Amino acid sequence: MLKGKIAVITGGTRGIGYATVKKFLENGAKVVLFGSRQETVDKALTSLKEENPEWEVSGAWPNLGDADAVAQEIEKVKEKYGRIDILINNAGISDSTPIDNYTSEQFAKIMQLNVNAIMNGIIPTVKIMKEQGGGVILNTSSMVSICGQTSGIGYPTSKSAVNGLTWSLARELGPSNIRVNAVAPGITRTDMVAALPEQMIQPLINAIPIRRIGEAEDIANAFLFLASDMASYVTGEILSVDGAMRT
Ligand code: NAD
Repeated sequence: MLKGKIAVITGGTRGIGYATVKKFLENGAKVVLFGSRQETVDKALTSLKEENPEWEVSGAWPNLGDADAVAQEIEKVKEKYGRIDILINNAGISDSTPIDNYTSEQFAKIMQLNVNAIMNGIIPTVKIMKEQGGGVILNTSSMVSICGQTSGIGYPTSKSAVNGLTWSLARELGPSNIRVNAVAPGITRTDMVAALPEQMIQPLINAIPIRRIGEAEDIANAFLFLASDMASYVTGEILSVDGAMRT
């Protein structure tokens, strides 16, 4: 579905990002994954190469909060492959601190990575996509962007901003043949969720109409569809992949 496409995926070292990198490689894309540290990037690359030595995948670890550092890495991808077809802004952090203990520094930190840093990747990539005549930008939002959560105000706020950014950029960039969409995962089995004790997981599952926790591959499949030409008329969409759990 993505034969010959060049994709950059942030937060690609584990969880949803890693599953998406793998899915894209399986579907013929060449992928540059961004992680936060060389060590985790190397680990992800080793495990992908073990799966299939033929896959064309490399990695970088720019500080996503540093616009110049991100622009430099994006430019390197352009120099290497001559184009960037797909950018997935997936790196993100969550938080569940109650409001009584919340600090403005915490709020700024989560907005910095989940929102501001996304723009650091989008700004240089849009220039490249406009020059080449099109592209696809995808963002990882969250179920809580739609319904909020009971504590940790910064996280749903940041993901609602991701939705606003997605809707607006889709409208601004449509005439340049650049589609912009987001995937809004529900509770997804990544390291964070897998570490929860069984007595916490079961009530969560009971609240999900489809009666199971999402797998990282469920989210990767949504990204695959949105990145592919099968979604050629889909833009400005926030695709919920949450088993209908929106509370
Ligand atoms: P994860 O913690 O397993 O992965 C997060 C990724 O982001 C990692 O690759 C990590 O290296 C990267 N990252 C974190 N901080 C970074 C930083 N400062 N600089 C660079 N990279 C950084 O989590 P995940 O569950 O796979 O989350 C991926 C995305 O999905 C996030 O945006 C998250 O908000 C979103 N999401 C997750 C769930 C869930 O239940 N797991 C639900 C909804 C949305």
